[in-house]
Amino acid sequence: MSYACSRCGHEGKLHGGRRCTRCTLADRLTELLDDGTGRVHPRLVPLAEHLLSMDNPLSGLAWLSYGRHPSAALLRGLASGEIPLTHDAFRTLQPWRAAAHLRELLMACGLLPVVDKQILLFERWLHEHLAGLTDAEHAQILRRFATWNVLPRLRSRAEARPLTPAGRRYVGEQIIQATALLDWFADHGRTIADCTQADIDAWHVRHTTSANANLRQFLLWAAKTRLIRRFDLPSTASPGGPPLPERDRTALLGHVLTDRTGSLRSRAAAAILLLYAQPVSRITRLTIDDIIREGDQILLRLGDPPSPMPEPVAALLLEYLGQRTNMRTATNRDSRWLFPGRRAGEPLQPSTLSTQVQALGVPSIAARAAAIRQHVLDLPAPIVATALGYHQVTTARLAAEAGTTWSTYAPGDHRGEEGSVSNRPSPE
Ligand SMILES: [Zn+2]
Repeated sequence: MSYACSRCGHEGKLHGGRRCTRCTLADRLTELLDDGTGRVHPRLVPLAEHLLSMDNPLSGLAWLSYGRHPSAALLRGLASGEIPLTHDAFRTLQPWRAAAHLRELLMACGLLPVVDKQILLFERWLHEHLAGLTDAEHAQILRRFATWNVLPRLRSRAEARPLTPAGRRYVGEQIIQATALLDWFADHGRTIADCTQADIDAWHVRHTTSANANLRQFLLWAAKTRLIRRFDLPSTASPGGPPLPERDRTALLGHVLTDRTGSLRSRAAAAILLLYAQPVSRITRLTIDDIIREGDQILLRLGDPPSPMPEPVAALLLEYLGQRTNMRTATNRDSRWLFPGRRAGEPLQPSTLSTQVQALGVPSIAARAAAIRQHVLDLPAPIVATALGYHQVTTARLAAEAGTTWSTYAPGDHRGEEGSVSNRPSPE
């Protein structure tokens, strides 16, 4: 009794028609990859040859067994042209495990360009992540971000060396944080297009260093593509670093107030930043009319009501007011900007002021984060929010984090609240 294949003579396990495993697999592949002429589609011959050359054709046969294995359907789709032979097509193909396996085979036999495995896994994850979003617009923004920013970065890194699972999770986190930001705006009835500097600051204060670092790429991309307005990204030196400890903030404020080596202008700006958590871009928009004298108290109008200014800072600001810079040109003589710029009628560039403030040793984002926290501790949250122009919900969360109670405070009834700005003498 012969155990030899009736076609090729190979001895071993025989299947239907007394064919060996390899010949049976060849027949099966011809059937699945048939282009309509009874032969394997010429373009797919390398795939068939690759499969037939495997050490263990039995596993190949099992993979394409006559049961309901989805791979068989995928091969038929390739042969009929229903599934284009591109990475794009495979990105969304279902069921994904079978598709991923076939995609690897197509890369192995040279029919698809080789792509790093971690990129394939990331694309798969991204597809499912986006499919799970309820907001189609969010999904569209994130897809654009992934296509034009995340994936090109991954590809160029993969060219240098194979990516690691950690590298893949890292970019996944960037998508997750961007999704959280979009959701946050949606929760407040807004969209990312409404994003202001105050939102970005508030977000950075509320999130961990790593979460902020993960959002960085998305924010940069969003600004570059004009999805959001330009903003000051929290300093690169300490990406979303922790807020300054209160004692550092106090020490910096003391330094700014007493060290006369820095210019009066940069010291005044730094003091406002340290006290009121204002972005430099906002500080440059202040006018001399925002400094209000009420009896013997000086107030700074950042929101409503104006915020009281403690004595040493008020003195510094008044001294500065007496000798504002860039006032000598004829056109600027009547400028009402608190920090007039070189160009007539315009305030100082935020970047210019920012550089000067940092030269004093004041790290702007950490200082602002610290200042917001301190205000929240000192004052009822809604007052901090309106006085500094921050979103109230954000301030409430900060208050909760800082351990103060927001819920016990009744908005609109803050007269007499201890330590609140409404204690200022007679409102106008
Ligand atoms: Zn055979």
